[in-house]
Amino acid sequence: MTKDFDALTHRLIAFRDDRDWKQFHGLRNLMISLNLEAAELLELGQWLNDGALEKKLDDPAFVERLAEESADVLLYLLLICERAGIDLTEAAHRKIDANGRKYPAEKSRGNARKYHDL
Ligand SMILES: [Mg+2]
Repeated sequence: MTKDFDALTHRLIAFRDDRDWKQFHGLRNLMISLNLEAAELLELGQWLNDGALEKKLDDPAFVERLAEESADVLLYLLLICERAGIDLTEAAHRKIDANGRKYPAEKSRGNARKYHDL
């Protein structure tokens, strides 16, 4: 795990334990919470077309809301990985490696086809 993720996880666990919230943080609840926060992130784009949403990046208040919801998603993801003993950085590297094998650049460049259609 990167030092940044380690530091975030330690701070998050201390925050949780100071409030005696571990009792509420079973794996199932953490997975539900992650998805609820992802939905809050998605809600920021509700009813907007692609162009209108991209334009919102010029609005500092919108970017701050985007940052807050992105952080919520990351924090629940870190709690899930801590609970399961997963090194998120290592898992992400493995996943990028696997995606590289599924989507070789020479076959995937400039198209959005699924790996089975390459
Ligand atoms: Mg949120």
